[in-house]
Amino acid sequence: MTPEVLVIGAGLAGLTCARALQARGVSCLVLDSAEAVGGRVRTDVVDGYRLDRGFQVLLTAYPAARRWLDLGALRLGEFVSGARVATPEGPGRVGDPWREPGKLLETLRAPVGAVGDKLRVGALRVAVSCGRLETVWERGEGRTAAQELAERGFSPLMVERFLRPWLGGIFLERELTTPAEMLFFVYRMFSEGRAALPAGGMQRIPEQLASKLPAGSLRLESKVEEISPGELRLAGGEILRARHIVVATDVDTAARWLPDRVRPAGWRSVSCVYWAAAESPLRGEPVLWLNGCGHGRVNHLVVPSDVASGYAPAGQTLVSATVLGDPAEDDATLGAQLQDELALHFGPGTRHWRPLGVRRVRRALPVVARPGSGQECEAVAPGLWLCGDHTASASIQGAMASGEAVAGSILRELGV
Ligand SMILES: Cc1cc2nc3c(=O)[nH]c(=O)nc-3n(C[C@H](O)[C@H](O)[C@H](O)COP(=O)(O)OP(=O)(O)OC[C@H]3O[C@@H](n4cnc5c(N)ncnc54)[C@H](O)[C@@H]3O)c2cc1C
Repeated sequence: MTPEVLVIGAGLAGLTCARALQARGVSCLVLDSAEAVGGRVRTDVVDGYRLDRGFQVLLTAYPAARRWLDLGALRLGEFVSGARVATPEGPGRVGDPWREPGKLLETLRAPVGAVGDKLRVGALRVAVSCGRLETVWERGEGRTAAQELAERGFSPLMVERFLRPWLGGIFLERELTTPAEMLFFVYRMFSEGRAALPAGGMQRIPEQLASKLPAGSLRLESKVEEISPGELRLAGGEILRARHIVVATDVDTAARWLPDRVRPAGWRSVSCVYWAAAESPLRGEPVLWLNGCGHGRVNHLVVPSDVASGYAPAGQTLVSATVLGDPAEDDATLGAQLQDELALHFGPGTRHWRPLGVRRVRRALPVVARPGSGQECEAVAPGLWLCGDHTASASIQGAMASGEAVAGSILRELGV
């Protein structure tokens, strides 16, 4: 049977679009060149450990995730709020006094910025929490995150020791040239929910979306070569037709097909190094560890097996360290260097960690010059639609919301 809609891309944008259409009875066929769903949200299994292709988290406050995911069924493990921070003066902790008032004193005493900085964090939190979420996209006024932090008076110490590694790990760039809107958005999402990992790895998220699609509505290992309104051609030459075609690919592929409409602005890269360890360097606490020392390669470290079940075989520990960019060294050299670096913080035991692999993601986050909610969307041509994180914000929310918005427009056109 000919579907009403062909969706190209089984990442979070394409899957959410298909899910939203099929929830209202519109038939879709989702095509993806890869052998599994997920796009940039994939998990590899190595010796029983689950290695996400780059460390990433689901923020439970993402509105699109709350609408389209069964968060309970994902059996999320949540990070505690705040972070442990290594500084030249020793370790400290930055907590969220709204969530954990008991940690207020510890946070105020941490060698991470002055008391005024901690009050500024509070002021930022209040500012981003007011009004509808959509308003965060209107407040940047062309500033970068770095400019916004400077304007708000954050001290260089607070920026270097906490904000740069924390936001750098989210934006995948430490200069903080990302538009200020992303700072507001991320801050609001962290204030309203938790950072979490699904039991068994991040790929469970796209898998859950795909599992809700009717049988026969997903074709993997099906690369689309060419598109035109109402028609597409697969790599093998097969032609598929539908009244609506949704391009839910990465930005580079979309730009090849729609050069007048899509202009890629570059990518942020990241590399994640994984080890099996006998015990957790964070002593079992599901917390983010940040390198606020001002030197060293590691930006942040997490122990996924302390956060969610299924990341490591029973009784074992999975450690992951993130380096921004794509280091020149081979995997073995990079891993060994990081083990030496981490020994300075966690003791010589890090040198006994067993390497499990490195995941280099050269095209992790697209540079989005003017991020937005992803809710405004119009057809690129009659029956031809565009979604994906590059059309909204480089995030799970951006991808899902953009897919949902396209589905909404198609439903309106179909009069459903
Ligand atoms: C390492 C890393 C860390 C991240 N951290 C976070 C985080 O902590 N929190 C957060 O919210 N977001 C994070 N993100 C961002 C988030 O994962 C992405 O924004 C989101 O997954 C993008 O989804 P998408 O559907 O727009 O694109 P993609 O996931 O890229 O999906 C596009 C799909 O199109 C398919 N495709 C491409 N070309 C073709 C073709 N010719 N024919 C058929 N199929 C094709 C691809 O195979 C792919 O499956 C991170 C991303 C990475 C990689």
